[in-house]
Amino acid sequence: MFCDSDFVPGRRGEDIIPDWYGKAIGRPNDVVVALRTIAPDGTTTGDRLRVSQTIAATEFRLPDVCPDCNNGPLSAIERTSKETLLGLMDGQGRVLAPEDQRLIAAWAQLKAITYDATQTSPVLPRSLGKRLLASGPIREFGVMLGKYDSRSPLEVSLIRHHSTLSMNGTQQPVWVSRTTLIFGNLILSAAIVVDGWLPVEFLVHRDVAEAVDIWPPKIGDERRSVSWPPAELITASTLPRFV
Ligand SMILES: [Zn+2]
Repeated sequence: MFCDSDFVPGRRGEDIIPDWYGKAIGRPNDVVVALRTIAPDGTTTGDRLRVSQTIAATEFRLPDVCPDCNNGPLSAIERTSKETLLGLMDGQGRVLAPEDQRLIAAWAQLKAITYDATQTSPVLPRSLGKRLLASGPIREFGVMLGKYDSRSPLEVSLIRHHSTLSMNGTQQPVWVSRTTLIFGNLILSAAIVVDGWLPVEFLVHRDVAEAVDIWPPKIGDERRSVSWPPAELITASTLPRFV
């Protein structure tokens, strides 16, 4: 998945929900995970609620990850981003320096790639994982952040939204895969065009009060810090606008 190594997938792999998140929130005893897939026609499938005290379950783990990748670059992405992410997941406000934005974008892209690969019908190219590990966050894979107004009754939500867009005056369909990850107060949205063409800037909600776009950096803004949370919070009723 992330390299060309020839190996037999084992019990270990990449967890969509990291163990550090589980440790930080303790041992939940209610519904902890919701999985949802929204098709281009709006049909919602795959709604699964999981009541569990262990969120590192096999259904949220991609086994096709070789030990070298898992213990090397993948664990480095987790290690370098987790302190910043935990603060955001806990709702704490802060300024995100360009390096913070890069680390969060890498983590969001890694989770989106991993989540997609665990689905019965993956839509993302397999080359994305290799590119992420080789050269950091992928430029055409837009990432934005939002703040959920309160902790949902679900500790973690994973939503894959597979949609089509039309450009102004053009009927050419553009297929976009958008993965929305909700961990506590933090909503991450990672979107990429999988078929057709559209500038990545159209995939992030620039200048929308509920969103902070962190990836890719705007031209000339590579050294820009951003404040989190955004001016307006996302609620259960406004969430569909974000996915
Ligand atoms: Zn590998």
